[in-house]
Amino acid sequence: MKTEDRNNNAPCIRIAVLGDVGVGKSALTVRFLTRRFIGEYRSDTDLLYRQSIVINNILFDVEVVDITGETRDRRLPVEQVEWSDACVLVYSITDRRSFNYSLQVLQQLTQAARPTALLANKADLEHLRQVQQEEGRRAAARAGCAFYEVSVAEDSGDLYAAFESLLREIRLAQPKAARKFSVSKMLGTLKAGRAASAANVNSVRCVPAGAGGSVVVCRGADLHHRRRALRRRQTFSATASL
Ligand code: GDP
Ligand code: MG
Repeated sequence: MKTEDRNNNAPCIRIAVLGDVGVGKSALTVRFLTRRFIGEYRSDTDLLYRQSIVINNILFDVEVVDITGETRDRRLPVEQVEWSDACVLVYSITDRRSFNYSLQVLQQLTQAARPTALLANKADLEHLRQVQQEEGRRAAARAGCAFYEVSVAEDSGDLYAAFESLLREIRLAQPKAARKFSVSKMLGTLKAGRAASAANVNSVRCVPAGAGGSVVVCRGADLHHRRRALRRRQTFSATASL
């Protein structure tokens, strides 16, 4: 795990969302971080989302990169994968081509030893199904990664389970010092409303802490060259609020 001194020393967890065009990566990212579903997204560049999340009483800064551009030429977005602690790989059950693409990427992620969850999205479109659930399950089992069939549109709980399993996996591998980070100390420094909101959800395993988050435009090279990425984040810090 990459630790960063940004939110009162809260450890930082980085997740890359990968998959073919149109499978629901942007919808999934926004759903996970905001619990909302926005039907249409228009973006020609990767977006880096940042949100504070409480996992088992511990506050983390979670960064999620929603990859757009690189997937068009069907190459693995190496910079984003190298930057990440874990990957969420998405295909659509209505699009066999996207499943084939995910198989190709899965192989590369396995070689790169990245913790991965394979997500079969658009489970609400059963009548358009081209990929059987068993095919996805078998591919994930072969790669030794978690598998979930989800509907981002219908807010199926398994999509949160996918992120949670990855976050827990990363957290288990984190250094001891970070594990001792106290969320109660952190919450004491927050404004009352936000602290109350986080406290209410502490019994849940993995939840956003307060409503605040941010999103910036961020290409792979920006992630790779750390200083440049940070400068861009400051510049874009008020671009949008989740
Ligand atoms: P991306 O290119 O992988 O980022 O895909 P988007 O997030 O832009 O989604 C592509 C399209 O699929 C959009 O029209 C979304 O509204 C739609 N979509 C995403 N998730 C679902 C889902 O679970 N069910 C259905 N029916 N449509 C979805
Ligand atoms: Mg997208």
